[in-house]
Amino acid sequence: MIAVLGTLGIVIAFVVIGVLVDRKVPLLPRSEDLEKIGKPVPLVHAAGTAPESALVGTAAELEAHLAARRCACKGKLARTGPDEALRYDGRVIVVVPLTCAKCGAHHRAYAALTAGPPAG
Ligand SMILES: [Zn+2]
Repeated sequence: MIAVLGTLGIVIAFVVIGVLVDRKVPLLPRSEDLEKIGKPVPLVHAAGTAPESALVGTAAELEAHLAARRCACKGKLARTGPDEALRYDGRVIVVVPLTCAKCGAHHRAYAALTAGPPAG
């Protein structure tokens, strides 16, 4: 029991020290700092590859994205099933299953669709 509490105490002490040091001397650039100097804030996921980075646009813009998107092996991606929908962060996200024609890797495209111009 003392060993567990001791280990927990050491971990907590290091976390507290790390947070205090990071406040005095920023160890990692803050997103506000990057915005100030005009550098784009890095996305955790590339646009359209995760719900949090879902594309926002019309169905036509999603189709254009799908046509341009490539696998890491540079292979072309094709739809391999019906689109699905999920709710993420209060938005409905369309999930498009894709497969690489070259290496067979599975991918997904995520989009929060907006209404396009009225047809006709
Ligand atoms: Zn591929």
